[in-house]
Amino acid sequence: MLIQLAENVWKINEDSNCYIIKLNAKQENKIVIIDSCPRICRNKVEGQFKQIADVRDVKIVLFTHFHYDHIGNFDMFPNATFYASKDEIDFFKKDAFGAVLDKKIASDFTELLKENKLQPISKIKKFLADNSIVSFGAPGHTAGSTLFLYKKHKILFTGDTYFGDSYYGRTDLPSSLPGKMPQTLKMLKDIPHNILCGGHDYV
Ligand SMILES: [Zn+2]
Repeated sequence: MLIQLAENVWKINEDSNCYIIKLNAKQENKIVIIDSCPRICRNKVEGQFKQIADVRDVKIVLFTHFHYDHIGNFDMFPNATFYASKDEIDFFKKDAFGAVLDKKIASDFTELLKENKLQPISKIKKFLADNSIVSFGAPGHTAGSTLFLYKKHKILFTGDTYFGDSYYGRTDLPSSLPGKMPQTLKMLKDIPHNILCGGHDYV
């Protein structure tokens, strides 16, 4: 299902959520994607994505974390570089399956490292800041989970850290840091936002 959230911001909801932000409507190639839905939903996601933009124009894909149901369609974007927190990338290098929870997708995703297409968010922090996007480290659900705030519309993208209504992500997975979750949730609630966009529509 394709839903418009604000001017130039859309959500594709297919099991998990893929978010599309067109930073400048006049420049078609200035598009930022947050997460990419599970691979099993590929055809539906691709079909809906085409209504908004050309996958070849996407240069920047941000990941809240590396679970298979969020990175599954990374290979839909042939010209993109992919960004996640350094902690998420470091854990992936140590334990690809533990970071992704799917053998095939973990193995495909490893190719990005070899091609230098998987980079820490710090590499584009300035570009994001110039375009009204801020990232926050949010350890808990995974060690390197990240929240993204699109300040222009005060939209907070939370991945699996928080789904709203006191419903938060599991903290018993291989890279989870359950001890950090309370502090992360407190930080999240202190970030001023009008729209909360979770990784899944569980609420
Ligand atoms: Zn997850």
